[in-house]
Amino acid sequence: MGKPASERVLLLGGTSEARALAEQLVDAGVDVVSSLAGRVAHPRLPVGEVRIGGFGGVAGLAAELASYRMVVDATHPFSTGMSANAVAATARTGTPLLRLERPGWADRSTPSWIWVSTHEQAATVAGELGSRPFLTVGRQELGRFVPALGEKEVVARVVDRPELAIPSAWRVLTSRGPYQLAGEKELMLDFGVDVVVTKDSGGDYTWPKMEAAEELGLPVVVIRRPPAEPGVEVVHDVDAARGWVLGMLNRRP
Ligand code: NAP
Repeated sequence: MGKPASERVLLLGGTSEARALAEQLVDAGVDVVSSLAGRVAHPRLPVGEVRIGGFGGVAGLAAELASYRMVVDATHPFSTGMSANAVAATARTGTPLLRLERPGWADRSTPSWIWVSTHEQAATVAGELGSRPFLTVGRQELGRFVPALGEKEVVARVVDRPELAIPSAWRVLTSRGPYQLAGEKELMLDFGVDVVVTKDSGGDYTWPKMEAAEELGLPVVVIRRPPAEPGVEVVHDVDAARGWVLGMLNRRP
């Protein structure tokens, strides 16, 4: 027989940290359900129970929370819709919420990084800096680069092919990290990339592109993270999140 719903943990995932946390919680005997958005065709699945797809907004998530004792939001730093819904739904139901967010890259910034606040600004700046931008911003955001970069020889790297009409001058590469420095340099040299565009995703999976750009002397346009949801407890590593969950489970509901 499964554990009572009052001990179940909802882990909003889609990141490597969420998978690592799921593994640690399963090892610790915690009843955890990982939730994925269903954005990629073949997601890397965490260990333990998994559900896939949206909840149906704040109301849907709040209804779902009747089955859970707590929520850990370990979604991508740019998954602002899901994070906002988690805050609103848990406030409605009184469910404890923790945000697990990997540190960004700001403290590794070099003089050749140009920080911008929006994808549209990134597109404009990249167009001013080069003629062969390398876009590593995710499939969902590519359309925001077409107005400024539609005529440029863009190389766009994504996990799954986007549905939008790709400008004829663009090359779309499908692959999934983690990546290595040597391969990233080779790719940039092969395509004659002259500017790299990225979100401040943080973590190590995609960091080698930043090293490769530095070694090749290329500018990097970095899109700042959206502001964090106010009033939510935040931790920056998996061990701290595991400690929070185990501590909550040891408390009376
Ligand atoms: P979002 O604005 O955070 O989410 C939109 C909706 O997708 C949510 O309201 C929710 O639908 C559903 N959703 C998102 N994450 C979910 C989860 N873990 N479990 C269940 N449902 C979830 O936007 P996003 O589409 O996730 O992505 C926004 C940005 O994050 C993009 O720039 C993308 O490239 C980046 N990103 C996302 C992921 C990912 O796994 N989602 C991974 C890497 C990068 P309902 O309202 O119906 O509940």
